[in-house]
Amino acid sequence: MAYVINEDCIACGSCISECPVEAISEGDIYSIDPDICTDCGTCADVCPSEAIHPA
Ligand code: SF4
Repeated sequence: MAYVINEDCIACGSCISECPVEAISEGDIYSIDPDICTDCGTCADVCPSEAIHPA
């Protein structure tokens, strides 16, 4: 399992520096590499748009 960023992402960048395994990539909507994500939930806690949820 991995966390997923949905279309509510405003590309604010809050999550990217919080991920301990650098699984998050920048973009119009940020994305999480499911092969790297360890399901820790840190990014979901910091997202101001609540755009990050467990898949
Ligand atoms: Fe990174 Fe944790 Fe978010 Fe997965 S759940 S992308 S490991 S911060």
